[in-house]
Amino acid sequence: MTVTQLRLVLETDDLDAALAFYRDALGLHVEVPEEVASQRVRAHFIPTGQSALELLEATAADSAIARYVDKRGPGLHHITLRVDDIAAALAELKAKNVRLVDEQPRPGAEGALVAFIHPSSAHGVLVELKQAADVNVRLKREVDVRLKPDATNVRRFALGDLELISLFDGFFRLDGGAMFGVVPKPFWEKKAPADDRNRITLAMRPLLVRGVRTMLIDAGLGGKDDAKFHEIYGVDRSRNLDHTLAEAGVAPDDIDIVLASHLHFDHSGGFTYRDANGRLRPKFPRAQYVVRRGEWEDATHPNERNHASYIADNFVPLAEAGVLQLVDDDQTIMPGVRVKRTGGHCMHHQSIYIESAGKTAIFPADIVPTTAHLANPWVMGYDLYPADTVAAKQAFFKDVADKDALVFFVHDPAVAAAYIREDKGKRTYAQA
Ligand SMILES: [Zn+2]
Ligand SMILES: [Zn+2]
Repeated sequence: MTVTQLRLVLETDDLDAALAFYRDALGLHVEVPEEVASQRVRAHFIPTGQSALELLEATAADSAIARYVDKRGPGLHHITLRVDDIAAALAELKAKNVRLVDEQPRPGAEGALVAFIHPSSAHGVLVELKQAADVNVRLKREVDVRLKPDATNVRRFALGDLELISLFDGFFRLDGGAMFGVVPKPFWEKKAPADDRNRITLAMRPLLVRGVRTMLIDAGLGGKDDAKFHEIYGVDRSRNLDHTLAEAGVAPDDIDIVLASHLHFDHSGGFTYRDANGRLRPKFPRAQYVVRRGEWEDATHPNERNHASYIADNFVPLAEAGVLQLVDDDQTIMPGVRVKRTGGHCMHHQSIYIESAGKTAIFPADIVPTTAHLANPWVMGYDLYPADTVAAKQAFFKDVADKDALVFFVHDPAVAAAYIREDKGKRTYAQA
């Protein structure tokens, strides 16, 4: 039996006092707690080098831990020995006549398997054996946590005289390595767990701005793609822009302006649709579609490096229908909404700044597509000019800090919008 970690498990009757000692006085890092519903206990993990402490807090008066604390007071409850193969360890101990509380492993915190050895065999100490969850099982649990039901909801935000409505056009999957560029997988997979094909789940979140006019910023993937495309990109549009626009109380012909951050298929797919006769038409019949001229040129003249990102059916019909408006420079598109070229992701990628009554919101699009991309070097491998993306991010986060801006994440699987904090160069977010 090989033990890979020792953990001391302490139970507490006063969590704040315990944290004041272990966290504040000893200066140890206490991780986000985990509820173990079956045991009616909350576990606070405290890494300490190779070993660890764990503070247990009862969540119900009749839990085993609460009864134990009542009887004996707070203190050391048991020690945990981490093993690679708990079934083999139990068999070995049984063969050596060690008295076991659990002859079979049972589920514990963090998706692990656990079993207890009786204190009478361990010289008065309760000993727990623990086999950590298979890394894939653990990651799958984290994915499930991220994809909460409200991750697909319409969200409304007031910004001065404007109303901002975050919409949703479904989930899709892209290669995790490509989404994080030079960042090694052990780092990114903690934030964005990969599936068995190394793909991570992303959302598409177009943004509606209601002011003197009604504007849609980007439009997701749309509904024109075939089964093969859906299979490659793991598309799930069972809930999509049609549903979320309707929930927001907006009909397609309410939209006056459609503004493109850029023309990649996951942003422009919803610009057009195929009618009953198979003809491609603008999806929003009354809208002018505003696209940066340089991006239009690149999208209509793709090269071998970027052609997979551009699908002509998403935007060429706009020119044919006479609803395309090309803009050359950074400028105001409607009162309170202006564009700013960032480059980086593609040469003419632009962010959208929304400003009203001294308040600012920014839609950085694919410069900071998810909350996992807050750090400057976390740049997509898809980006054509990654060094420019880093510079654009620095400028963007300076603007965010100066204006305390609300940030919209076009591809985050769970977080539509957040406020960003920066402390000693490390950025964190608070969901809005
Ligand atoms: Zn893109
Ligand atoms: Zn994108």
